Amino acid sequence: MELIDSFEKLLAEGHTRLSASKVLSISIADLRRTYKQFCRDWPADNDRNNALRDNLEKELKNGLTQKQIGDKYGMSQANVSALIYKLNLTGLAHNRSRGGFDKEEVALIVIEDIKARGGSINDAINRLQLNITAQTVRHYARKIGFNYKDYVHAYKQYGNWTTLPSDEVKVFNSDFIVQAVCGCCGKQQSVYLVNLRSGRSRACMNCATKKRVPTPIICKQTGKVFSSIREFSRFLNRPHSYQSVRIGLLKHGIYHHEGRDYIPLSSFPGQEFTVAS
Ligand SMILES: [Zn+2]
Repeated sequence: MELIDSFEKLLAEGHTRLSASKVLSISIADLRRTYKQFCRDWPADNDRNNALRDNLEKELKNGLTQKQIGDKYGMSQANVSALIYKLNLTGLAHNRSRGGFDKEEVALIVIEDIKARGGSINDAINRLQLNITAQTVRHYARKIGFNYKDYVHAYKQYGNWTTLPSDEVKVFNSDFIVQAVCGCCGKQQSVYLVNLRSGRSRACMNCATKKRVPTPIICKQTGKVFSSIREFSRFLNRPHSYQSVRIGLLKHGIYHHEGRDYIPLSSFPGQEFTVAS
């Protein structure tokens, strides 16, 4: 609950969900699970675009660079550029003496976004909602020697894997071999994309096969002990949400259910309990 309170305080201060999650060093996925666990409604996001839209002209007149504005509002420089372009404020933008962005400058905004967030040219154009064709961006990318194809599958999260920009190696009909880094140990290796997409592979072989030591759980009110989180989630009649029960317990050290508190036995010392069958 503390986590939810801190998160909502940050949102009230104007943080976006993403920037608030970064302040708290927790992923959006884990936050959502926590909300689910406590049956709380997932709060609406603060629209960064609106906040910046209202202030962009002022910030530019104050002489802030696009990078400084991006840092201040938690947006990428490419997003700031895109907004400047959309709001017709190009005359105010730093280091630009001409009246507006030409096509190559818009293409560069798209390319910077692909470099930062991955995806295809069309993905980036849609994200930024820019009025430019994929063809124009492709031409410009070739002209400056930017290999946009390397980024099509990059920076996506599959379990603990994060895909990296990589030469696209096609195998079979529709599968690719891409580079990815395992979030558990930091190891980088080539993986079959189809295995990540299907969820078959969620971490490198080493991390995936590491044995988990069971964590016994105790109910603070009744003293009932469960031999493992798996067994506890079965007792909750939520065996399918084992992962969310586990993450909630390990992250917050406590799980509330029907007015009772469940904690790892290791944090409840001083008494002997028998393990329930
Ligand atoms: Zn690993």
